[in-house]
Amino acid sequence: LPKNLVIVESPAKAKTIERYMGKDYRVLASMGHVRDLPKSDFGIEVNGGVKLSYKALEQANSKKAVTAIRKALKDAETVWLAPDPDREGEAIAWHIAELVKLKPESTRRVAFNEITKKAITEAFDSPRSIDMSLVDAQQARRAVDRIVGYKLSPLLWRTVGPNLSAGRVQSAALLLVVQREREIRAFRAREFWDISARLATDEEDEFVAVHPVGEKQKFSLDNEAGASELTERVRPGPWTVAAVRKSERTRKPPAPFRTSTLQQAASSKLGFPTWKTMKVAQSLYEGGHITYMRTDSTNISQEAHGDIGRAVKEQFGEHYHRARQFAAKTKGAQEAHEAIRPAAIAKAPGDMGGETSADGLRLYEMVWQRTMASQMADAVYDATSVDVDSRGVTFRATGQILKFDGYLRVYLDKADDEPDDVEGLLPDLSEGQALDLRSLDPEQHFTQPPPRFTEATLVKEMERLGIGRPSTYSPTVQLLSTREYVRSESRRLFPTARGEVVTDLLEAHFPDFVDASFTARMEDELDEIAEGDKQMVPVVRQFFDSFTAHLAEQKDKITRPERPTDKTCPECERPVVEKFGKHGLWFLSCSGWPDCKWSQQLDESGEPLPDPEGTGEPCPRCSSELVAKSGRFGPFVGCSNYPTCKYIKKEPPKETGESCPDCGEPLVERRGRFGPFVGCSNYPKCKYIKKDKKTTARKKTGARKKTTRKPAAKKAPAASSSSGTES
Ligand SMILES: [Zn+2]
Ligand SMILES: [Zn+2]
Ligand SMILES: [Zn+2]
Repeated sequence: LPKNLVIVESPAKAKTIERYMGKDYRVLASMGHVRDLPKSDFGIEVNGGVKLSYKALEQANSKKAVTAIRKALKDAETVWLAPDPDREGEAIAWHIAELVKLKPESTRRVAFNEITKKAITEAFDSPRSIDMSLVDAQQARRAVDRIVGYKLSPLLWRTVGPNLSAGRVQSAALLLVVQREREIRAFRAREFWDISARLATDEEDEFVAVHPVGEKQKFSLDNEAGASELTERVRPGPWTVAAVRKSERTRKPPAPFRTSTLQQAASSKLGFPTWKTMKVAQSLYEGGHITYMRTDSTNISQEAHGDIGRAVKEQFGEHYHRARQFAAKTKGAQEAHEAIRPAAIAKAPGDMGGETSADGLRLYEMVWQRTMASQMADAVYDATSVDVDSRGVTFRATGQILKFDGYLRVYLDKADDEPDDVEGLLPDLSEGQALDLRSLDPEQHFTQPPPRFTEATLVKEMERLGIGRPSTYSPTVQLLSTREYVRSESRRLFPTARGEVVTDLLEAHFPDFVDASFTARMEDELDEIAEGDKQMVPVVRQFFDSFTAHLAEQKDKITRPERPTDKTCPECERPVVEKFGKHGLWFLSCSGWPDCKWSQQLDESGEPLPDPEGTGEPCPRCSSELVAKSGRFGPFVGCSNYPTCKYIKKEPPKETGESCPDCGEPLVERRGRFGPFVGCSNYPKCKYIKKDKKTTARKKTGARKKTTRKPAAKKAPAASSSSGTES
C-alpha cells in the first residue's frame, strides 16, 4: 500500500498529479472546502476574542471525500496537503488537517504554481507547514463577509423584499453599476460639427482632412448655421499643404495576463463572460497546461523567462525578441506570484491536440500569444500628420503605417471600450503643394454618455479601485446577476429597479460600507494579515464592533422605499406615492392606504401596466372573473383575485408546424419553470426539446438562481462553500 497520501481539492487536479507520482503515492480529492460556517447560525462569537464555529459540509460528495480520506489515513505515513497556492487553498489545507485531525509531525504542505512534473518535484523536495497567516487572512474575510451578509440582509428582507442580500464586495460593485447609470441619466449630449474635405493630388491620390483640429477646438463649431457658413467660406480655396510632420511611433506589448486582464481579454476577444473564463482557465490549470489562474502578479519566473525568449527567437528571429520584466502590480506578494502563462511555452496551441476542449484551446491560444508577445519587440509605425489650409482655416489629415510589426505579429490587444484603429496611409505630400477639392461635407455629432460596464470592464474598475481580489472578481459580478441586481443586454450591465433601490437604501444608511475606499481598505487589511503584519482577531473585532454599532443606530430608521409623485388618486383624490413592490418593481399606491386601496402596477421602465382584460369566464376555484394578464414568460389567463387565488388557466399547447426529429409527432410551444420552450407533443414518452441558444442560456441562469436562493429563504443568508458568494 502507498505510504504517502496526497490531498488536493479537485478530481481533475488529482488525476494530473497522479500521472507524475510514483506508486508510493496515493492522490485523493477533497471536493473543495470540507468545512464552513454553519448555514443556519451566525457561527461567529465575538467577546474577548473571535471564535468561528465551523461545521463539516453536509453535501454527499464532500462527506464521501472525507470518508475516503479518513480511510486512507490509516495506511499513510506522510500526508501531503497540496491545494492551490493561495489563501483559499491554504485554508482548505488547514480545514482538512483540523477536520480529520492530522498529526503535525507527519503532515506536509506543498504548493505549486503549475501542475508539471518539475514544479511538483520541487515542491515535494521542499515542503513546509501550513501558513497560518494565509489561513487567517481567509478566515478574516469569511468572518467579515458573514457579519455583513448575516446582519444586513434581514433588514433588506423587511424593507425591500424577500431573498435579498447585501455583501461587502458585492454592494460596492453594485454601487459602481448604479453610479454609471446615474451618470448616463444625467448626461446631456452636446452638439458639435466638423467639416471633412476630400482632397486630391495631381496624381489623383485622394485623402480626407478634417476641421476643426485638436481636442481644444472640438466645440468651435456647435451649430448648423456656423458649420455651413464656414463650409462656404473655405470652399473656393486655394487648398494648399501648409505643413507635413513625420514621426515614428512605437507601441509596447501588454504585460502577461493576471486574473483581471485575462477576464478582460477573453471578454473582448472571445466573448466569454467572466465565470466561463475562470472555469476554462481552471481546467487548463488542472490539466497542467497553464500556471495558476487566480493571481494579481504579472511576473514571469526566471526559468520561464528564458524559455519564452528562446521560443521567440526560434520562431520569429532575433530582432523580434526583447527581454522584459513586468513589475508586480499589487501587494500581497506571498501568494501566487506569477502571471498566467503556459506551463510549457514550447507547446504551441497547434500542439494541444485533443488535450482540451474547443474553448480551452481558444483560451490557451490567447494565453500563449500574450505570453510570447510580452517578450517581443515594440511595434513601430511611421506616423504622418498633414495640415491643409484654405482661406486661413486649417484642416488636418493623419495617417500611419506599420513599419515593423514586432509583438503584433502574435497578439493584438484591444479592450471592450476601445475604438478600432482605422488610420491608413497618406499620399506623399510636400509643403506648399496645391490640392484639388473633391467634396466638402459638414457633419453633425453629439457627445456620447459614458458606456455601461461589461462584466470585464467592471472587473477592471473594481481592480483599479481595489475592490475585491483575483479570487472574488468573477463570483462577485456573477452574483449581481443571479440576485437580479443587474441584467445584461448585449453584454452591457444595467441595474434593475431592485438593484437601484437596494443601493439607494445602503447609500442612505450605510454610506461607509458600500463606499469603494472602505472596501479597498478592508482588502488591504486582509493582505496585511496574509503577510503577517496584522492579526486576524483585532481586525475582525474592530469591524464587528463598528458595524454592529452602526447597524443598531440605523436599524429603525430604515423604512420601505417610497417616493412622491405629482398624481392624485382617481378614487379619493389624495396624493399618489410610488412604493417598491416585493416582486422587484415600483407601483403606484394611494397615500390614503389602508383606507383607500387604489393601486396601479408599473413595469420595469416605470410605465403603468394596462389593467387586466376580463374574459367573462369564472374562475373554477373561487368564481371570481378570469382575466388576461402578461407575465415574464408572456401572456396568460389567470384569476383576478390574485394573489389570494393563484389559479392559472392552462392553454392547450400551440403547435409550431415542425415535427419532432426523434419520433415525428408535432412540436409544441410549452412553458416550463425556466420560461417558454419548444418540445415534443408526445411528452413524456418522447423527451425531445428543441435547443435554441436563448432557451439554454435562460435555463442555466434559472438553475443557478435556484441553488443560491434556496438556502437564503431560511433564517440566515446563504453560507455557500464557494469562495466568494457573500462578498
Ligand atoms: Zn385613494
Ligand atoms: Zn380564483
Ligand atoms: Zn418526439
